This record gives sequence, structure tokens and C-alpha cells, in this order.
Amino acid sequence: MAVDPLIELRNVNKYYGELHVLRDIDLTVGKGEVVVVIGPSGSGKSTLCRTINRLETVQSGTITLDGQPLPEEGRALARLRAEVGMVFQSFNLFAHKTVLQNVSLAQVKVRRRRQDDADRRSRELLDRVGLLDQAAKFPAQLSGGQQQRVAIARALAMEPKAMLFDEPTSALDPEMINEVLEVMRKLARDGMTMIVVTHEMGFARASANRVVFMADGRIVEDRSPEQFFTNPNSDRAKDFLSKIL
Ligand code: ADP
Ligand code: MG
Repeated sequence: MAVDPLIELRNVNKYYGELHVLRDIDLTVGKGEVVVVIGPSGSGKSTLCRTINRLETVQSGTITLDGQPLPEEGRALARLRAEVGMVFQSFNLFAHKTVLQNVSLAQVKVRRRRQDDADRRSRELLDRVGLLDQAAKFPAQLSGGQQQRVAIARALAMEPKAMLFDEPTSALDPEMINEVLEVMRKLARDGMTMIVVTHEMGFARASANRVVFMADGRIVEDRSPEQFFTNPNSDRAKDFLSKIL
């Protein structure tokens, strides 16, 4: 691969007690690459994301971000969490804060920005996700799609090196899925490094550089979307695709 690696996992293994959830994972994500991760429920997709953000520890193997091993604790760990933005299925906004406060809060607390600088940047980002006019509202006053776009703006406010999306549209009503995917497509076009767990195959075809197919904690396929969708190698992937397409 010609591009500079940003995220590298080498021979990563993770267990929950007896359960071996990540098995010999080798994955390199280059700067500006968009990698879509798909696979059956329970195959380890969320765990993979959570280990990269160090929400979970691993029992063996190495994970590096921009050439540096993931930090163990303290301020370095807080910085890592800021550098690898994560967007979940549930939006996890602060219910008693306004949209603007939700996007500004960590900028002040973690990035130590002045409140007015943080608010200015928050407004720029809310504009970018099409929600500047909602800045004074509370999360409960927004639709699910709007809340998820706020969550994306909040992660971007930390100026992350990479963004991880774990089924960001799975909890949304169908008519709201596209407004969130559109924000993600734009991010991809702008060169953000992204790992996206999703069942949205249209997004994978249009925006992914690679599709990673996982089953039983292993990476079974890691190929271009064209190759993967037209000619999957493994029976597991063929079987999976026949069920969702
Ligand atoms: P996916 O996101 O692909 O559906 P997960 O990464 O959530 O899969 O889960 C992988 C496996 O790990 C599943 O068998 C799941 O039940 C198990 N698992 C996930 N989180 C935990 C946890 N906190 N404790 C114990 N087992 C877990
Ligand atoms: Mg999951």
C-alpha cells in the first residue's frame, strides 16, 4: 500500500474471559483511507473499534496510531480518545446541555480551548453537518438523524486523526439514514481516515477504499469493494452477502 499507515494492528488477540473475540487481527489503515467493516452479529466488529480507541485492552499483539503504541493511561490516554473520534449507534449526547454546549464541552475540558474559541469552532462544525440553526436546542428536541450529526460534530471538534463509526445509522428511522451517511460521505471525500462498521452497502460501494469482512473474531477478507461485492472469496462472506443484499 502506497499511503502512510495511520492505524496498525499486529497479531491482536482479545478475550472476554474464556471467549476469544479477536483472533490474530492484522489490519493497517492508511492516512485518508476509508475502511468499512462488515460481518455477522457477534463477529467482533464493535470490539475491534473499542480496542483501537482503547475502551478495551487486548491480551496480546500491538496497536499503533501514527507509529506510536496506544497509551496505557492518564493524559496520554485522554489525548488518544480525542485523536480517535468515535460515533456509536446510540448518540450519547448530554441531555441537559444544548447542542452547542454538547459540541463545545470537551474542547474546553480536554483541548483546553477558551469558551469563545470552542463555541466559534462548534458553530462552524454545526454548519458543516447542517445544524447551525439547531444550536440552542436540547438533544431531545432533535430527530435521531440530527442527534447523530451532532455526535459527529462533537467528535470532529477534537480534530481527530481518525474517526471510528460503529453502526452509526442502525438506530435511525429509514428516512434519516441518508442525512447521516451524507455527512460521512463528505468526511470521506475530505480525506478523513475512517473505520466504519455498517450494514449500508451503498456507502461501502461508494466511499470505502476497502471492505473488511469479519467472522468469529477473524478478518476473513480485506479487499476493495468491487472485488468483495462481485466476487467474495470465502463461503462465509458469500453466505453473509446472500442474506443482506
Ligand atoms: P459485533 O459488534 O460484531 O456484533 P461484538 O464485538 O459486540 O460483535 O462482540 C463480539 C463477541 O464478544 C460476542 O460474542 C459478544 O457477545 C462478546 N462480548 C462483547 N462485549 C462483551 C463484554 N463486555 N463482555 C463479555 N463478552 C462480550
Ligand atoms: Mg457491534
